[in-house]
Amino acid sequence: MERGRIAIVGGGIAGAATAWALAEGGETEVVLLEAETCPGAHSTAKNAAILRIWCPSPAATLLAEETAAFLAAPPAGFSPTQLLDPCGTVLAVADPPPASLTRWLSTRGAGAVERLDEARLAEVLPPFTGRAPQAFLLREEGRIDVAALLDGFLRGARRAGVEVRTAAPVAGVERRGARVGGVVLASGERLEAERVVLAAGAWAGALGRAAGSRVELHPTRRHLLVTEPDEGVDPSWPVLWSDPDGFYARPESGGWLLCACDQTQVDPDDWCADEGVRAGIAEKTARLLAPAAEAGAAHFWGGLRTFARDEELVIGPDPDVLGLDWVAALGGHGISSSVGAGRLAAALLMGRACDGALARAVSPARLAGPVVSGA
Ligand SMILES: Cc1cc2nc3c(=O)[nH]c(=O)nc-3n(C[C@H](O)[C@H](O)[C@H](O)COP(=O)(O)OP(=O)(O)OC[C@H]3O[C@@H](n4cnc5c(N)ncnc54)[C@H](O)[C@@H]3O)c2cc1C
Repeated sequence: MERGRIAIVGGGIAGAATAWALAEGGETEVVLLEAETCPGAHSTAKNAAILRIWCPSPAATLLAEETAAFLAAPPAGFSPTQLLDPCGTVLAVADPPPASLTRWLSTRGAGAVERLDEARLAEVLPPFTGRAPQAFLLREEGRIDVAALLDGFLRGARRAGVEVRTAAPVAGVERRGARVGGVVLASGERLEAERVVLAAGAWAGALGRAAGSRVELHPTRRHLLVTEPDEGVDPSWPVLWSDPDGFYARPESGGWLLCACDQTQVDPDDWCADEGVRAGIAEKTARLLAPAAEAGAAHFWGGLRTFARDEELVIGPDPDVLGLDWVAALGGHGISSSVGAGRLAAALLMGRACDGALARAVSPARLAGPVVSGA
């Protein structure tokens, strides 16, 4: 039997960020196990790559603030390329805006936020044809180079001594009484570990349940469409995010990346893209971004966003199985919150100081009890 102090299951952004943060904290007796031949092939490769900082969850917002600061000024040697294109986001919201957004906006530094009236909105994002009861330009947000970020995490982890194994699907978590004993791979190979970290995205919930945890996660599917290139698109335009319409878009590969914010619960092992979603994207695009409506589709795909029942992230020790930890349920915010999530997970694994209120908000322990009505 091989011995590894910490085994991380899953080499998407969650597992990679955790491995990197452990290494950054001096914990290198770590093995990261990824089922696919290449890390980051699932949700991490299929998202819209938008850095959103504020979201309805205060915990996810805090983790994204930490990530945003990192992306804007990563440590020397982390990545040879820029991690963030700070193109900004035009955020359209109801009038009045959600109270948590108003509070958050008041915390941003000088120049980070601009309230847009109709004329200014037309100047900043000329192709917008919708109605924005209230609109803000959020200059700290933008587009993340997800491949470079993932690569930076993995290179940093490997350099410090973390072992990254691909084509290593974990069949199950092994128990030794109330504790984890390690993991067993699909090949039958056993790896001993004192701690097992579930960072397996849409598959984390099933692995945890099979190991005896009461934590339940729900994988859902969402689609993105990229149009054919259109010479009218200015690649420096900001992201458009319309909350009331459930729609977002940004320039991509000379055309537009479009999303109608669909969400359907699915089995992660048994789903395919739903062609019917194209009609919803076309309807919203015609209304909100009319110049993009004529462009043909170049790419259309679906990806998985995984949630806990309260839509809050799940980071920290399992309430039922000693030695089992989670970095999962990153929902639609997993790239934006990755640095903060990885660092929080690593601090909890190493017993280091961290923000206690934040750790409680995302603790898996909250999911062990019955559903509280209205929660
Ligand atoms: C359409 C769409 C748009 C999105 N847009 C954004 C956005 O703009 N900004 C943002 O911040 N977030 C966005 N997200 C969310 C983001 O992509 C996810 O939150 C994030 O990628 C989750 O990362 P993860 O590492 O948890 O999961 P994954 O990337 O899915 O990684 C899990 C890994 O675990 C591996 N694995 C699974 N089971 C096993 C096993 N048994 N053994 C070993 N390995 C295993 C898988 O192969 C996979 O590589 C979007 C998601 C979707 C679907």
